[in-house]
Amino acid sequence: MSSSFILTDIISHRLAGAIGLRGEKMTKKNILFSLLIFGLLLGLGLSSVLAENSLFTRTIANSPFVQDLFAYVEQNEEAIIAEWRGLTEIPAPSGYEEKRAQYMKVQFDSAGLDKIYIDEAGNVIGIWEGRDGGKKIVLSAHMDTVFQGVWDIQVIREGNVLKAPGIGDDTASLINLLWSVRALKEAGFKPKNTYYFLATVEEETGFDGMRAFMNSVQEDFDYVIALDGDLGKVHYGALGFGGGKVTFRGPGAHTMQSRGVPNPNLAIAKAIERIYLLDLPISPIEKWTILNVGMIMGGKVRNAVSQESSFTIDLRSGDQQELENVQKKIRKICEDVSNETGLEWDFQRDDQSKAYQIPRAKDSALVRTVVDILEYLDVKDIEIDPLGSTEANVGIERGILSVNLGRTYGRYKHSLREEADIDGLFLAMKQIILLIYCLE
Ligand SMILES: [Zn+2]
Repeated sequence: MSSSFILTDIISHRLAGAIGLRGEKMTKKNILFSLLIFGLLLGLGLSSVLAENSLFTRTIANSPFVQDLFAYVEQNEEAIIAEWRGLTEIPAPSGYEEKRAQYMKVQFDSAGLDKIYIDEAGNVIGIWEGRDGGKKIVLSAHMDTVFQGVWDIQVIREGNVLKAPGIGDDTASLINLLWSVRALKEAGFKPKNTYYFLATVEEETGFDGMRAFMNSVQEDFDYVIALDGDLGKVHYGALGFGGGKVTFRGPGAHTMQSRGVPNPNLAIAKAIERIYLLDLPISPIEKWTILNVGMIMGGKVRNAVSQESSFTIDLRSGDQQELENVQKKIRKICEDVSNETGLEWDFQRDDQSKAYQIPRAKDSALVRTVVDILEYLDVKDIEIDPLGSTEANVGIERGILSVNLGRTYGRYKHSLREEADIDGLFLAMKQIILLIYCLE
């Protein structure tokens, strides 16, 4: 930054000379003009300095070392699929990840990582020590699934597709993580960076496992890389959640006595209609905001005025300020409806998860490298946006540059008929291996 400062200083000085300002009596207008040019050049200089270069090159990707790593993945395809199926069949609903954790710990151990332990929260941590001056990088995949009470899981294979609850989300990433480590170890890779490989608990309940890990270790991490989501989707910002439940309450009455009695059902209808008229930003993408009224509840019988009616709001935004603005407007709408109808109201907010953005994350070496890798691997449907909802959010909220990387292509996530493509898994694995190699 300082070199760019000096450079722009010289340029603006020269320019000022060229346009005849130098040596002239500095009038107010001249000073303002110089400042304007200086500011402009400083801005240009800074933005070009702050936009980092990608660390990816085709020379790296096509190097014999990387090609050998890729060959290792290809040679082991059947073993990888077998282990993927086996791990998926170890049930691990949030809060019940112990069996998977034991399995991951044994695998980290036999892969030859330097320090392996299970922390108090139940996360499995495998550290691969680097050298002095290297970065500290977290790579995480979550062990838990949303399938509470599902204890019998059998994976079905149909051609290129595996079917089972949890097959993709996020068991596929655990397999990617394991086999990336194995491939690198097998090739004799000696990292400069120190890697913290994590198999986490309770991601699906709001990144609780990842937060517990980050709180328990006193390390300044450089990057957090969450392995989660579809292949090709990369998020470098944290999507915020700010919804809740609105309730209107009144005295109620039998239909026959209901003339003039305020009706909470009518109040929620009014409020919902007005909420849907709110103008929610679409661009810039960092401020993208959306809401959905997913549930309406009210009344107990058809022949009486409801005493209590409510609706839920799922509100999401890439920008925390925007999220709070919309919440404020929702409150104002409800208050107006309350004043018009004479009904009481309240807004019960969900557990908030704040939106966070890291300045210039999109132009960082990390994100640019990821994009180049995806393009090199010919991944289809690449989408890069700041609206993430993965364990990378935990890094981002701590100011750490963080992204997620997808696991494979899949369908019906969070449903019992979940599906994942086999060939996409190997592509995702190569993306991780190549990223680790580029980050060195
Ligand atoms: Zn997930």
